[in-house]
Amino acid sequence: MDLDVSRDEPCLEMNRASNARCRGCGFQDCEAIGDLPDCSEFAGLALPKPLPGGVLYRCLNCHLVYRSPICTSEEYGRLYARVSAQTWRHRRRILRNDQALLRHYIESQFPQGARILDIGCYTGEFLASLPTKYEKYGIEKCASATRIARQNGLTIVGDDLYNVTLAERFDVIVAMDVIEHVLNPSQFLRDVLSIVSDGGIVLLSTGDSDDATWREEKAAFWYCAFAEHISFISERWLKGDSDVNGFRIEHLQNFKYEDRPYWKTVVMRSLTHLCWLFGIRPHFMWAAHKSKDHLFAALRRKSTAADAKHSA
Ligand SMILES: [Zn+2]
Repeated sequence: MDLDVSRDEPCLEMNRASNARCRGCGFQDCEAIGDLPDCSEFAGLALPKPLPGGVLYRCLNCHLVYRSPICTSEEYGRLYARVSAQTWRHRRRILRNDQALLRHYIESQFPQGARILDIGCYTGEFLASLPTKYEKYGIEKCASATRIARQNGLTIVGDDLYNVTLAERFDVIVAMDVIEHVLNPSQFLRDVLSIVSDGGIVLLSTGDSDDATWREEKAAFWYCAFAEHISFISERWLKGDSDVNGFRIEHLQNFKYEDRPYWKTVVMRSLTHLCWLFGIRPHFMWAAHKSKDHLFAALRRKSTAADAKHSA
């Protein structure tokens, strides 16, 4: 059975190969953080029947936090292809905080221009915001978002990192709100680092699974309520993976995903907690965040003796 949401009958097959075994490092007997809510939507796509939330685990070895069980990569691929081009579109017609941070970092590190690949570029709004001195390329799974990006003149090189053949490397590889969607973040970083040029950088933004609010709220934290969010990293995970995959962390900072009026944060958080008390899983959990629960990281591959010496 597969997760074909175009069919009438519900058919949700989960990959139950490993629950408490870490998807990243293979460590056995990871810590169960809590049960995740079942989801009637996947990235805004209505599902024929709720997708079981599964359990949130924390690996005590590599510190990866992950949802388990999950669907197969083929099932996820079919779902992402059907996602609307409106789901992740920024409503305010200005850059999100992560987009603004990354643009500033790129312009400070590569003022003369650079070849940039945006993995998960969606409709291309971030690439479009960059000056014309940058060569812009994107990878996007969502078919309707890809059409919009191409209409806006962006070069989409493929729908998946693993379906494209890239003859050249890139000076900057961007993955905003991407790593939480991949089955194995360490494998993803290894593959991304393999296509970055010497002296190039990889820029990530994602939720920080070591954020104090997240650790307090555990599996009830807003960011892990989305069915499409399956893997969560942190500074500790990045530091461990830097040895595995051979990179340096050049820059690391926490930031708020969006700025909201204080009163709205208080009201939404109170309502969220009230709903959880009564066993309700509200859709507005996304709006309940108040802290700097996101992470921006700039990574550089250790490719030279100088790099290795620098990190020693
Ligand atoms: Zn692990």
